[in-house]
Amino acid sequence: MSVIDDIKARIDTVELISQTVKLRKSGRAYMGLCPFHAHKNNTPSFAVWPDTGTWRCFGQCNEGGDIFKFVMKRDGLDFSGALQLLAGLAGVELKPRTPEQVAQDDHLNHLRQLLEAAAVYYHHLLRNAPQARHAREHLAQRGLTDKAIEMFQLGYALDAWDAALNYFKAKGYTTEDLLAAGLVVEKEAEDSPPSAVRRQFDRFRDRLMIPVRDEQGRMTGFQARALQPDVVPKFMNSPQTALFDKGRTLFGLHLARKPIRDSGVAVVVEGNLDVIAAHQAGFANVVSSQGTALTEHQLRLLKKHAKRILLALDADEAGDAATLRGLMVARDAFDREGEISFDPRGLVRVEGRLGADIRVMTLPPGLDPDDVIRRSPEEWTRLVEAAEPVVEYVIRVLTAGRNLDDPKVKAEIADAVLPLIDDVADPIEREAYRQKLARTLKVSEAVLASRTAKPKPGKRPAPPAPGQPVLRRTAPGRAQPATELEASKLEMYCLGLLLRRPEALYQLDRDLQSLGLEKLSPDDFTDVELQLLLQALQLALEQIDVEPSEHLRHNLDAVLQARLEALLASEVHPVDEIKVKEDLLNAALRLRQRALAQRLNQLRFLAEDAREQGDALAEVYQPELVRLASERAKVDRAFSPQARSRNVFSKPVA
Ligand SMILES: [Zn+2]
Repeated sequence: MSVIDDIKARIDTVELISQTVKLRKSGRAYMGLCPFHAHKNNTPSFAVWPDTGTWRCFGQCNEGGDIFKFVMKRDGLDFSGALQLLAGLAGVELKPRTPEQVAQDDHLNHLRQLLEAAAVYYHHLLRNAPQARHAREHLAQRGLTDKAIEMFQLGYALDAWDAALNYFKAKGYTTEDLLAAGLVVEKEAEDSPPSAVRRQFDRFRDRLMIPVRDEQGRMTGFQARALQPDVVPKFMNSPQTALFDKGRTLFGLHLARKPIRDSGVAVVVEGNLDVIAAHQAGFANVVSSQGTALTEHQLRLLKKHAKRILLALDADEAGDAATLRGLMVARDAFDREGEISFDPRGLVRVEGRLGADIRVMTLPPGLDPDDVIRRSPEEWTRLVEAAEPVVEYVIRVLTAGRNLDDPKVKAEIADAVLPLIDDVADPIEREAYRQKLARTLKVSEAVLASRTAKPKPGKRPAPPAPGQPVLRRTAPGRAQPATELEASKLEMYCLGLLLRRPEALYQLDRDLQSLGLEKLSPDDFTDVELQLLLQALQLALEQIDVEPSEHLRHNLDAVLQARLEALLASEVHPVDEIKVKEDLLNAALRLRQRALAQRLNQLRFLAEDAREQGDALAEVYQPELVRLASERAKVDRAFSPQARSRNVFSKPVA
């Protein structure tokens, strides 16, 4: 029995979920209000099945899973966090870590302690040192209160080369510790022969120190602001260390987490001091990207807590139409390390991938969030409410002040905006933006559509034309609903293939989409470990830093790692490329068929039960029933003999 099975066996799903959701028994299931979406009327769309230990929201979220997925979603935890929490509740002891893991954790904890001590040290200096007077004055001038200074533990680094170095050495920390924590830098002494003497000195001198903490509130590093006007750089960050990774941290998230959850909205600003000012004014759902381009990782972090993410953009930075147009045409991928923090195409793609609602909020020219909040908190609230979807924002900026009666201007704007609209994942949204653009440019939608239809490299495949094979190079036999045992084998087989050849997932998703079906989803699997492995695989394919398989190995929890190795080690007969594609699509269709059948059964059951009890709510299940049934019909059609006979590449499946 795996640890996960053990934990599941010990925890009562209904009891656990009842702690968050008020449940009432309804036949075989328990029903309640979904805790993950807002309710207009009190429709119980959230069901828990004690016999399978699963839950599902049939409403807006349309999501489900087991207790792991539930606490991950409820508490915003990753798998390993959920494992810790549930193991604790179940009284299951987790496998001891390897000596290397223990050593690594000890090392990181040691560095965290050093950084905590450094935050206290700098903070003490800011409060008390006579040399810090100008720093205190600077903060007073910005209107920051003592309470805010305490809450963010702001500090001051002395104008000296070795103050921190000597202080922490006297406390027993080594030079290596100080270097590893990024507090000290090392250089060859200029007056000595190369590589003879290396000298260490304080990295931060005469600067305002802003401690940067991770989502859990643990120290990771500092951002240091120069206090003299002519000093460059104005902002200096801790270097990349084992703990500090600018692109993976959002400043203020540990304090903003709950307010973001409560309001469903997260606001991203550029400066850390803007965050502090916002929190001080009572706008606690604000975080910062620390002055650099927002990364997908950061957006993903926010998406865990927020439905809607607002980017507060400074008017000069993104408002310039020429820059904006250049950006959209020239850049194709989401920039991870660029200096420009606004990339509409990157954002629209990430928005689709994450299923997020990303909006742009424009600040008045020349003002920082900090200035706006100080000038008028009401104005800030108004700007938050007026935030626009990325595409609408781009249309507005590009058309502002242009002569829209000029045909050349119309064409130019259409060419700039249409590729962006093409990138929008949601078909309804895409349509709405196209209509909006047509109205704005006063041209017909048909003309815009013909312009879009021009083939562009890297575009998503078009739906199959009539008479063309919908299924390429595949011929699954007529599928019978698999038994549970077969199904679990099928899940492992499908994921095993994908883990061996991660890139095959792209082809599979394209094949599914060309059949009018959604991409492969963790929901197609019932085994939570396999769901998480698929998710990890999708993440590994989205990043570009390392090989997907390497990314997978390095980002998996020990339990999942073991499962990954087991799947990779499982026996598999050699297959050629075409066979892999066929087998994958076949397996995925069967999994989808089973998942849909299961959901339909569950939902029919709930509807019937509600009707028996004379519950008028039975009707609310209808639209979802219709949707699921039509999805299932699409899958069935993919298995049909017609689909097979049209397929010129088909090979019989053994
Ligand atoms: Zn829901």
